[in-house]
Amino acid sequence: MVFSILVMRTMIDPIDNDRFAVKNSRPGTGLGLFATTAIKKRDFILEYTGERIPTRIADELATKYLFEIDSEWTIDGASRSNTARYVNHDCHPNTEAEIDEDDRIMISAIRDIAAGEELTIDYGDEYFNEFIRPSGCKCASCERGLPSPHVK
Ligand SMILES: [Zn+2]
Repeated sequence: MVFSILVMRTMIDPIDNDRFAVKNSRPGTGLGLFATTAIKKRDFILEYTGERIPTRIADELATKYLFEIDSEWTIDGASRSNTARYVNHDCHPNTEAEIDEDDRIMISAIRDIAAGEELTIDYGDEYFNEFIRPSGCKCASCERGLPSPHVK
């Protein structure tokens, strides 16, 4: 049993890091994560990794890289080894995160993504209100004039 779990983990871990790369994003956005090959809708891309900390402690921290699993646990993804921290916010993203049965945060494509496209995710209302709303959203979709689901 232990063996089969290990094999499964190996299969879903992003060993093939040649599918994406950290590069400069649009001006003012800093670094971003970009697809280097075409990625199909629903394909697993990478895991959001980090230290597991109690959510009640995470709520006191002022870092951008907290990913809440549930009311009990949060992943602190601030480490540079967490490649997924480079995925920038977009109000109309091309990836989404799902919590699997082992409380791991798995990011996958929600539409076909072309080689060269930036990978984006919607970090949700709480993140938007705290980190984006104060200076206005500068994501590619908002810059194109698409209505943001976070701005009512
Ligand atoms: Zn936006």
